[in-house]
Amino acid sequence: MNPISETMTGVVLPGNSTVLLREYPIPRPGPGQVLVRMKASSICGSDIRAIYREHLGTGAEAYQGVIAGHEPCGRIAEVGAGCRVLEPGNRVVIYHISGCGLCDDCRYGYMIGCHDRVRAAYGWQRDGGHAAYMLAEEANCIRLPDSLSYIDGALCACGFGTAYEALVRMGVGGRDRLLVTGMGPVGLAAAMLGRQLGVSRVLGVDLSGSRLALATDLGLIDEGFEAGDDALERVLAVTGGRGCEASIDCSGAASARSLALRGTREWGRCAFVGEGGTVDFDVSRHLIHKQITIFGSWVTSLGRMAELVERLDRWGLHPDRTCTHRLPLDRAGEAYQLAADGRSGKVCIILDDDGS
Ligand SMILES: [Zn+2]
Ligand SMILES: [Zn+2]
Repeated sequence: MNPISETMTGVVLPGNSTVLLREYPIPRPGPGQVLVRMKASSICGSDIRAIYREHLGTGAEAYQGVIAGHEPCGRIAEVGAGCRVLEPGNRVVIYHISGCGLCDDCRYGYMIGCHDRVRAAYGWQRDGGHAAYMLAEEANCIRLPDSLSYIDGALCACGFGTAYEALVRMGVGGRDRLLVTGMGPVGLAAAMLGRQLGVSRVLGVDLSGSRLALATDLGLIDEGFEAGDDALERVLAVTGGRGCEASIDCSGAASARSLALRGTREWGRCAFVGEGGTVDFDVSRHLIHKQITIFGSWVTSLGRMAELVERLDRWGLHPDRTCTHRLPLDRAGEAYQLAADGRSGKVCIILDDDGS
């Protein structure tokens, strides 16, 4: 197959909950770039919140009408001049932001926090993974171990990376019980990884009974509570009236953030990773006097993502268990509807499903 002479279909998100399929020439890798034959490209909550429904943000952070998809995983088809490590055939996960490489955040591998004008997130400001091929910087790629599926890899590129980062920053382990508010894909990731890190008990809260049922069926939570007026009482009732030693809000909803904080035990830690909105709470009563540490945590670093991929391989743990819907590219509209509906697990677009 000669990719040079072909075109490919890519998914564009014009807003207003619509999905467009467009034809593009297959790109060629420039210096330091690799051409990745996409295999799996999953849908993130931020794709729904800030692109699919309406384009949020302004300037450098806004969606630029490019091919969508910032959770890409595939196999290298071609390498550009000057690539030093990767070769055609290598399976890779792509960290979804290319940064300037020179600022403090880039040097630490947190390209998500790069403020330089050249910063570009795949699927936001430069073409992403919802197409047969994607151009990526070699430096943004992480080798995917053979034991992990392409969907496993795609799920690490944002959601599992985000959950892992927050859990590691909180230092969760066997001394902790973990409260997860929002059992969407990131909440499922937090529950799965929290358990693997040794958390002794995982409690999950969500508006959707089907999401709680999924988390329970997957064995990721010990108890699930529907969000509502009595959720805090129920969390306290199963934790001896004290709350969990660690909590993480993956929903971004004010009530869920408040619940995560109020359901945290004295001297405990609480992480906010769900995006958007605000929260209002009595600072003395719920934060200061309880001696709680709050973590704001945005995605993860390239190094931490590589660490996660290595650990998943060692643990034999598969994020793809949380993927409930796998659809081909020509059904991207349906895939986005499912993801926006808020009742499923992870939704993933599958490309080139030839088993390789
Ligand atoms: Zn994301
Ligand atoms: Zn930078």
